Amino acid sequence: MTTRVALIAHDHKKDDIVQLSGEYASTLARCELLATGTTGSRIAAAHGLTVERMLSGPHGGDLQIGAQLAEGKVDMVIFLRDPMTPQPHEPDINALVRACDVHNIPCATNISTARMILDVLTLRLTQKI
Ligand code: PGA
Repeated sequence: MTTRVALIAHDHKKDDIVQLSGEYASTLARCELLATGTTGSRIAAAHGLTVERMLSGPHGGDLQIGAQLAEGKVDMVIFLRDPMTPQPHEPDINALVRACDVHNIPCATNISTARMILDVLTLRLTQKI
């Protein structure tokens, strides 16, 4: 079954997720991608990847991803949070991260962890592990 990867980045982290998704574009191209609205647009525009776009995060996009995750439809989450800026949808963010813990889904909230998860995903997809 195709791996489903959720991608989310707060505004100050959007350039980072665009760069990261470019570095791993060939891996991500073999996955089904879903993302919050603006993050998804940025990634699709930058790299031509097909991204299923939810609502923007502050409008419920994180919750939509969390709902899919709770139904077993998300295999990993790359969520580059901005720890320095208060977010209006903080409860939604916490709900998504909590859902990852409830359902034991890998969730990277910074670039270093994201690289580790994407490295493992790359190896899996190339049958090296
Ligand atoms: P966005 O949402 O990709 O629509 O900006 C991300 C967020 O702020 O949670």
